[in-house]
Amino acid sequence: MSVEHGSVRGLICDLDGVVYRGSQPCPGAIEGLTEARQRGIAILYLTNNAGHTAAGIAERLAGMGVPAMEAEVLTSSQVAADEVAEHPERDEARRVLAVGGPGVRRALLDRGVATVTAGELAGGEEPVPWAVVQGYGTDVTVTDLTEAVYAVRAGALWVATNTDATLPTPRGLAPGNGALLASVAHATGQQPGLIAGKPHAPAYRRALQLLGLRAEEVLAVGDRLETDIVGARTAGIPTALVLTGVHGREDVEQASPDHRPDVVVDSLHDLARWWG
Ligand SMILES: [Mg+2]
Repeated sequence: MSVEHGSVRGLICDLDGVVYRGSQPCPGAIEGLTEARQRGIAILYLTNNAGHTAAGIAERLAGMGVPAMEAEVLTSSQVAADEVAEHPERDEARRVLAVGGPGVRRALLDRGVATVTAGELAGGEEPVPWAVVQGYGTDVTVTDLTEAVYAVRAGALWVATNTDATLPTPRGLAPGNGALLASVAHATGQQPGLIAGKPHAPAYRRALQLLGLRAEEVLAVGDRLETDIVGARTAGIPTALVLTGVHGREDVEQASPDHRPDVVVDSLHDLARWWG
């Protein structure tokens, strides 16, 4: 794959480590995104963050001075909800167990999928959910995991928003959604039947649909080789690694060919020359 100057019509842009770190915008991010927008490049922020809503993320971006509308944010919860809403086994007579932060439930409700909480199921009188959507949330409890295990054991479709093992925090790496999924996997002896987020295919399929562009017209920008770069490459989308996040130039040199981006830049601002 190659990226030709002036060939890019849309961006699939990761957030953490590309646009912001914590509460601060990454160096060059505001300039780069503002310039892309001025040149008429369509922008889609694609994040594995499942616990927050797209509206909340857009608001946070705007608060940092990064131009963003809610419709330009696609979370792994929204991708999971799209997959569930269109699933051939969808059973409208039964509800879907939503596990995770508010973003998981909100995304399902926005797509007309009725949800049930672990608390409601704990009474033992509700029908078994036909699917479980499991994403990260700071308030996920043992009751949530227990109900997920009961449902998966009873044959419910198990959908993971994403499988990230860890979550970077100022104090170090905290358990991410992958670690919470592992407890359900351990107790059921099963693995999720569907994974929505990066580097998996549903995230990129939905992102291209929303942009209304073909893979070769888009540039996927990220800071992690094993998710942002591998996932986009597999989907046939040209890739750029931005060095404001997790991986550096040495990581690229040591990476296997399928993990290597087409372009490496110091910041989002340095991408401007690709939109000619
Ligand atoms: Mg990132």
